[in-house]
Amino acid sequence: MVVTKKIDGKAHAERLTAQVAAAAVALKAEVGIVPGLCAVLVGSDPASHVYVRSKSKAAVSAGIASFQENLPETASEAELLALIAKLNADDAVDGILVQLPLAKHIDPQRVIEAIDPAKDVDGFHAHNVGALWSGGKALVPCTPYGCLLLLRDTIGSLAGAEAVVIGRSNIVGKPMAALLLNEHCTVTLAHSRSRDLPGIVRRADIVVAAIGRPEFVRGDWLKPVAVIIDVGINRITPAGGKPKLVGDVAYEEAQGIAAAITPVPGGVGPMTIACLLRNTLIAACRRRGRPDPL
Ligand code: NAP
Repeated sequence: MVVTKKIDGKAHAERLTAQVAAAAVALKAEVGIVPGLCAVLVGSDPASHVYVRSKSKAAVSAGIASFQENLPETASEAELLALIAKLNADDAVDGILVQLPLAKHIDPQRVIEAIDPAKDVDGFHAHNVGALWSGGKALVPCTPYGCLLLLRDTIGSLAGAEAVVIGRSNIVGKPMAALLLNEHCTVTLAHSRSRDLPGIVRRADIVVAAIGRPEFVRGDWLKPVAVIIDVGINRITPAGGKPKLVGDVAYEEAQGIAAAITPVPGGVGPMTIACLLRNTLIAACRRRGRPDPL
């Protein structure tokens, strides 16, 4: 039986954050630049405030200046667009992060497209989406880039691998498919209308699950020695037990079948924040015509 390796996303993220911090120190020493990340929060959603606080803490620990702009729940789309324009013009800000979801009266796509693509550290602007798919120089969405780093570290070269991505969101599934294609994988992008999902997954050397359904992918769907990246974060309360987080893949069932799998929590999640810091550092360098430090 295979001994399934646990892919330690927390340890990978700590290493990446340390690299970002070292590069930020060098940048400051060489040219006096401190990369700056500004989070924009609209409203008082407690989960959004928690996310922004942890991103801000991580930024400071990596030598990145952290700014925050808060608008009330009642702020209009025009007010938010005016704030984005102000941040676009502020040279101390290299990365702009608008915490989603936004209130219903604000069109998130219009807000994303208002961000200067050079400061779009989430990688959601059409300019960066296009650059990613056409092989150009993009700022790449943080979660799928974190998944790619974990895959490279676990497997080495991904060329020729059969990769199945489940979920086609703009945030995870689609950019993940583009990244795997750029690595020369044969990519299948599956979704809720895909027929015979277990059959599709059984072909995969690499499975990336980004669905948002607890333990949806079963152990008997997996090809032996496949590598599994579980993006899903689902809160469940087992009968008679305490609430806990689980992924989109049945983790215990994957043991003894998969070659390696990310746990939830402690897998993809920490990588997302580390990649945000990396993107901010890269944005600071590119905006000033400097080469990518990482
Ligand atoms: P999303 O926008 O809701 O997209 C979910 C995708 O799953 C959709 O493409 C949907 O297909 C597909 N899907 C739903 N039911 C399915 C089914 N029965 N069979 C096959 N595909 C199905 O979600 P997301 O933003 O990509 O996030 C996915 C999960 O990742 C969530 O649990 C989220 O919390 C987590 N997440 C984690 C991180 C992190 O840092 N770790 C970051 C982002 C997201 P259709 O398009 O056909 O509807």
